[in-house]
Amino acid sequence: MSLVVQKYGGTSVGDASRIRNVASRVAVRHQAGDDVVVIVSAMGSTTDDLLQLSADVSPNEHPREMDMLLTAGERISMALMAMAIQDLDVEAMSLTGSQAGILTDTTHGGAKIQDIRPFRVREALDAGRVVIVAGFQGVSPDTKEITTLGRGGSDATAAAMAAALGADACEIYTDVDGVFTADPRIIDSARRIEEISFEEMLELAAAGARVLMPRAVEFGMRFGVPIYVASSYRDAPGTWVKEKTMEQAIVRGIAHDTSATKITVHGVPDRPGVAAALFEPLASEGVSVDMIVQNVSERGITDISFTVPREHAEVARTTAETVASEIGAAGVDVAPNIARLSIVGSGMRAEPGVAATMFRELADAGVNIDMISTSSIRVSCVIDESDVERAVECLHRAFGLDGGTPDE
Ligand code: ADP
Ligand code: ASP
Ligand code: MG
Repeated sequence: MSLVVQKYGGTSVGDASRIRNVASRVAVRHQAGDDVVVIVSAMGSTTDDLLQLSADVSPNEHPREMDMLLTAGERISMALMAMAIQDLDVEAMSLTGSQAGILTDTTHGGAKIQDIRPFRVREALDAGRVVIVAGFQGVSPDTKEITTLGRGGSDATAAAMAAALGADACEIYTDVDGVFTADPRIIDSARRIEEISFEEMLELAAAGARVLMPRAVEFGMRFGVPIYVASSYRDAPGTWVKEKTMEQAIVRGIAHDTSATKITVHGVPDRPGVAAALFEPLASEGVSVDMIVQNVSERGITDISFTVPREHAEVARTTAETVASEIGAAGVDVAPNIARLSIVGSGMRAEPGVAATMFRELADAGVNIDMISTSSIRVSCVIDESDVERAVECLHRAFGLDGGTPDE
């Protein structure tokens, strides 16, 4: 008998028949003798619909009420799921994040899980029940307020709950068969990856492969809980995300992200302290900055460009404009239509020339590279958004991810 935490995403619980389908999968697992905790997302586009509704009602920021609103999405799913499982003669009980003991910091809209005290979850499991937990939410013990974990946060709930319960695995069921070599919705020849290391998955997730939230991968990595990603629709093999893989790949996969905005501060006086003068206020505004490029200084003047998530773009722009006038820079430019394209593979460490191949392939495809950043197992380029599908396709083929021979 094992203890398993399963998570079902929004599309997988998108309507009544899909909820019943998930319920029967859960019931089969329970009847096979396993203890099952099920984390659910909001149905279909519920979270987006609630965000739109709130924007229609009020143009202002309401962090507390926004979390009260958004957590309702997952509550709907959890109650319906419990009903559907009970109808299959399996005892089931739903719990909100706070009832399940998910304790977070105080940040509305992007709270971090600090601790999980799953007393009620354990009690219900001990009583032979399936436990359904609303994903994406918790409660702050400091403010006693309900919080949400950020978009895609149910993945984090699942991995953290699996760690807290000492579960054998965390299973993430979604609308594709697993983690692919590129987004299977845009690359027809993308192939399912059988196993991938936490390290590689973390890089892919952070680079925009939406299939797993980066923080879920971090929990798996930190607490040694393997994550299995598979389809909620059919019993097909999925992808294991774990500490080590049998084979090392030079390029394991390609991720792209069109949700970032590039901001450039022009004509920055090149003297000690200007970078700190720009990035300190951005940090205090809670803007998360990804790539940073500072150009070579000519006659003591330079440009600094950086990328931020789209939702931080407005704050970043106003902050950068204030700083620009304080430090005597020429001005600020905002480029929203960019894409970040990344290749990831742990074998890259021992293989020189991977970045060069990427740049050559993009050059031959006529794709202009705007910014470059690397880690030891990733190379990322910022390109024009309109080039992104073509660029992913060309790199996918060039690195042999479609099963063909890689280019020399
Ligand atoms: P869920 O609602 O189940 O959490 P998401 O929409 O968040 O599902 O994530 C699944 C989606 O991630 C897929 O439909 C796919 O389009 C996208 N995706 C992006 N990159 C990848 C990848 N490398 N492998 C698999 N799916 C990916
Ligand atoms: N419902 C939330 C979202 O759409 C959380 C999740 O699905 O993981 O982002
Ligand atoms: Mg998701």
